[in-house]
Amino acid sequence: MTHVQESAGQAVEVRRFWQRLGLPGLVDVHTHFMPERVLRKVWDYFDSLSPGDDAPVWPITYRAEEAERLAVIRDFGVRTFTSMLYPHKAGMAEWLNGWAAEFAQRTPDCLHTSTFLPETRVESYVREAVEAGTRVFKAHVQVGAYDPADEVLDSVWGLLAEAGIPVVIHCGSGPMPGKHTGPEPISRVLSRHPRLRLIIAHMGMPEYEDFLDLAERYQEVRLDTTMVFTDFAEPFAPFPRDALPRLADLGDRILLGSDFPNIPYPYIHQLQALERLALGDEWLRGVCHDNAARLFGV
Ligand SMILES: [Zn+2]
Repeated sequence: MTHVQESAGQAVEVRRFWQRLGLPGLVDVHTHFMPERVLRKVWDYFDSLSPGDDAPVWPITYRAEEAERLAVIRDFGVRTFTSMLYPHKAGMAEWLNGWAAEFAQRTPDCLHTSTFLPETRVESYVREAVEAGTRVFKAHVQVGAYDPADEVLDSVWGLLAEAGIPVVIHCGSGPMPGKHTGPEPISRVLSRHPRLRLIIAHMGMPEYEDFLDLAERYQEVRLDTTMVFTDFAEPFAPFPRDALPRLADLGDRILLGSDFPNIPYPYIHQLQALERLALGDEWLRGVCHDNAARLFGV
């Protein structure tokens, strides 16, 4: 039996989780939907991490056709999600944005998502994406291998700060460091654009505390929970127990993210990993639904 076939049983568990909290469902700000051949490449990459024996390092739990992946996430009761996609080279973002606009149109529960990287036409296609109704952007500093403080992006950050459109940004050095990952480049961006609505993916893994510093300094900085606190991430990027009170204080700016479908464990595990922090039901309600619902008006 595949994991997807098992998902019916998992849906019962996931729904029980949010029903117990009295929520109408979940909002997941970090899910990946992208053109089929791009997603296949992402999966090939995770498969290649296998050491060659029969135990893959990063098994993709929800490897299935798009329609089936959508059915699974809806069955979990995720009311609103995103289609995080990102280019690894110049000239690719506009094509991805075209796909994502079409995907959002036929997928009303998906927040229209766009992306960019520093390149000649970036300001014009970001502006077009904003005018087309993009609700959220994804930026990936490690895969795109760029400095987020690159001056080519300065007008883009200004535009997005002005429009108040959140940007989920993978800028921490985990699971793989890049030349421009870590808190330093992003703090240069924020010092120039203090009202920018950045959502730090993976809570900045593994530089959690540096990114908590930024969230404490800048009111519009938020953090997504993607993979953090899980049994998979804790061995190589443990969240410091001392920092738990800071998570409680920032409770209204922490947002559920999962990395569905590219996760090496069942979806429920992310939720259980949050629950076992023992920060309370009020905290869980904010993180799993209310904070993102407020931010996106859904
Ligand atoms: Zn992701």
